[in-house]
Amino acid sequence: MSQLLPTHPEKTWQEELIDAVRDPALLLQQLDLPVTLLEHARLASRDFSLKVPRPFLQRMRKGDINDPLLRQVLPLAAELEETEGYSTDPLQEQAYNAHSGMVHKYRGRVLLIVAPNCAVNCRYCFRRHFPYQDNNPGRQQWQQVFAQLRADQSISEVIFSGGDPLASPDRHLQWLVDSIAAIPHIRRLRVHTRLPVVIPQRITTDTLGWLAGSRLHCSVVLHINHRQELDAAVGGAIAQLRDAGITVLNQSVLLKGVNDCAQTLAELSEALFEQGVLPYYLHLLDRVQGAAHFGVDEPRAIALHRQLQARLPGYLVPRLARDDAGASGKTLVS
Ligand SMILES: *Cc1c(COP(=O)(O)O)cnc(C)c1O
Ligand code: SF4
Repeated sequence: MSQLLPTHPEKTWQEELIDAVRDPALLLQQLDLPVTLLEHARLASRDFSLKVPRPFLQRMRKGDINDPLLRQVLPLAAELEETEGYSTDPLQEQAYNAHSGMVHKYRGRVLLIVAPNCAVNCRYCFRRHFPYQDNNPGRQQWQQVFAQLRADQSISEVIFSGGDPLASPDRHLQWLVDSIAAIPHIRRLRVHTRLPVVIPQRITTDTLGWLAGSRLHCSVVLHINHRQELDAAVGGAIAQLRDAGITVLNQSVLLKGVNDCAQTLAELSEALFEQGVLPYYLHLLDRVQGAAHFGVDEPRAIALHRQLQARLPGYLVPRLARDDAGASGKTLVS
């Protein structure tokens, strides 16, 4: 009698993280792209490395250098150009980074840098030069952060940021949430993450345990820029979050060559809504050195946003926003 062979067992999220594509040659080979791109990809990935999890890679079209998912992760020669008006810390976050692991910039809300890295390296990232090595607090430093939170009654929301907070193990996140939930004036927990988009199996029972299991009202803000990023597996991860009672929102960055078109943005909003996700922000690119080739100028961004408003009901139109250095919140652009 022959035994049934197991069908391909799904890899765990940790295995997918380890198995992410980090070699530009492998990325090009997997996507049937010309090796002529290799030299620049190698150079541009020296300062900010290439990292693409395979579940995300599988959603890219082969042989298409303009694929909107590929464009977000492929290191290009353009990154090496110095552009005036672009800096390494465009939001001057380092000025608000008094305590390791904590950025207190927005009124009533505090960002905690709970993971020093991401599952995917997005070429346009405003934190591509962030000093994560100074923001990897140990337990004792976390106790200092909790003391700060306890002492400041004005803080009602804690935002897990990164890196990508979900790059941390669930048991660490559970410990953080338990400690935060013990501070009475904190009411809300928010998690900004791209991990369930690039590795959908990141949402596990343990994850839902700390997200939905405390007294804090919880929301998850995903980061999706193009509807092609949403496949059935991502939809499944979102459904698990929603079934646990978590509010799921999305933020996008307006990126030249990826989503700078009213039709593309409208399709994204509609696809998000069909999965139960509301579009929250459409960010103007932060002026970080190395990302200038993704820039869409403000008048054009406003025109695109108007076209979106003309096409969609208000609840499907994300707020067009800009982060200004030194401001205590986002600036809405209209
Ligand atoms: C804007 C922003 C916040 C704060 O967001 P609000 O929704 O305005 O409270 C937190 N984290 C990141 C990464 C942001 O861009
Ligand atoms: S997931 Fe977010 S923080 Fe991480 S590289 Fe991408 S844009 Fe930056």
